[in-house]
Amino acid sequence: MGTKMNVESIYYLIPSCQSNEMADRCWITFLVVLFCLVRAFDASAGDADPLYRTCFGQCKSTGCAGETCFPHCKTPSNGSSSDDNLYLKEPLYLWLKHANCLSDCQYHCMLQREKERATHGFGPVKYHGKWPFKRVFGLQEPVSVAFSALNLAMHLHGWLSFFTLIYYKLRSKAEETTCYNYTTLWHIYAFLSINSWLWSAVFHSRDMDLTEKLDYSSAVALLGFSLILSVLRSFSVKNEATRVLVAAPLLAFTVTHILYLNNYQMDYGWNMKVCVVIAVSQLLIWAIWAGISRHPFRWKLWTVVFGGGFSMLLEIYDFPPYQGLVDAHALWHATTIPLTYIWWSFIKDDAKFGTSNLSKKVK
Ligand SMILES: [Zn+2]
Repeated sequence: MGTKMNVESIYYLIPSCQSNEMADRCWITFLVVLFCLVRAFDASAGDADPLYRTCFGQCKSTGCAGETCFPHCKTPSNGSSSDDNLYLKEPLYLWLKHANCLSDCQYHCMLQREKERATHGFGPVKYHGKWPFKRVFGLQEPVSVAFSALNLAMHLHGWLSFFTLIYYKLRSKAEETTCYNYTTLWHIYAFLSINSWLWSAVFHSRDMDLTEKLDYSSAVALLGFSLILSVLRSFSVKNEATRVLVAAPLLAFTVTHILYLNNYQMDYGWNMKVCVVIAVSQLLIWAIWAGISRHPFRWKLWTVVFGGGFSMLLEIYDFPPYQGLVDAHALWHATTIPLTYIWWSFIKDDAKFGTSNLSKKVK
């Protein structure tokens, strides 16, 4: 999932974070600082560098970055240098060729600049909002791709075991058509999660206008639906009409936000604010509900909530990739793998708990 943000040295601003007794105040300060500092970056230090720009400009017209040449860059570009929404105007193969050419030029010019910078003792800088990564098997960010795939696998495994539990194990025990009340909601959640991690893997394989929009839209859809789910589950909303009433405004906002990103402006700063507000809201809803409801499996919920909150720090402490491969964002994707396992384990426990409550009431 792509979340581009640039919050520098947040810890320097919150020195009191080192003491335990200040933890509460620290969290509030942290959230306030987060909302204030989250901002988009259209141009990064790397692509503002004139030497990089010259290399990229030459490569687009000649198809060669230094001594490396790309045969697929030889098509005349009709003087158009912008690849924005080009896939809507040109046949798919031409668009792919053009996008591939731009991507290869960016990559090889970046490699050259980074090599030169390293010889002068300078550290890596970002290019087009991303750290310089080494490609492996043509994959732009191979480690993030691998972790996205593992997250996808984890959701698939969790969903399949939930499916088996609901339709085989719980149904035969209860001997009733009445079942866990939130089954359909968790099925939709599973579908949106799998869809989101699929596009995350694609986006990290190759960052293009289209793959970026698909990734961001899927992530927003998942986040929006998760918030609806957290409200419906924590307030035990079982009545269909009430569910529609609760879901409608949140759904309307989510859809409008996706349409805004795709058709009006891909505003990274605004999107990050929306995502952080939705994510923090649902983490708080789950955490508070677990405590109030005395849910028997609340420790799993709290593990996911605190683990999720902690892993968000990795996204904020945005360090450059180690060996050109593992950066903070990749590690963030790694932390969600075990959390996903615990999360689905909680969902299954909740289904068992909900069904046992129902059968007690029936008796
Ligand atoms: Zn990602």
